[in-house]
Amino acid sequence: MVRENEIRENEVQIEAPEARDAWLVFIGRIHTPWTSRMETPRQGRHDGPLCEIEIFEPWVPALEGVETFERLEILYWLDRSRRDLVLQSPGNNGEVRGTFSIRSPVRPNPIGTSIVVLEKIEGGRLFVRGLDCLDGTPLIDLKPDRNLFKPIAPPQKGDFEVGDGVQ
Ligand code: SAM
Repeated sequence: MVRENEIRENEVQIEAPEARDAWLVFIGRIHTPWTSRMETPRQGRHDGPLCEIEIFEPWVPALEGVETFERLEILYWLDRSRRDLVLQSPGNNGEVRGTFSIRSPVRPNPIGTSIVVLEKIEGGRLFVRGLDCLDGTPLIDLKPDRNLFKPIAPPQKGDFEVGDGVQ
């Protein structure tokens, strides 16, 4: 299911536990050209349409330095998703896959992530390409693409550990 909240052949719905508040705070809103899930890309593309990420106050000063990264990782809350399927049929053909083996927006905690290309920043507004969410989707976080980021904090023990871990 991702189209209109329908349940498809062989999909399995569970009774989702009551939500516990993790004290998430939405730090902004994403503006995209898409108002229907039937039109939104399945995955964003770096040559896709320009989208705007609006950062709310008091978080705008946290953008300091972001302009030095060509690509960013964006985390957003897929707010119009159902959250109660454990088996889903992306192909709508009776074949099902476990929710955690696919990138469907239908998940217990509907967090979407995309790597986007940063085009420009104007105050608290970032203009990017590579998103795949509906207009108005709440923003949870943004950070540099991990492939472009070198930790600034000094290394610690775990950074040098290799080999067997928990068995
Ligand atoms: N790129 C992200 C990821 O892999 O985590 C999201 C991928 S998800 C397959 C993208 C789809 O989620 C879109 O095609 C659309 O159907 C759906 N979607 C986008 N924004 C949504 C929202 N705010 N609420 C519910 N569903 C949304």
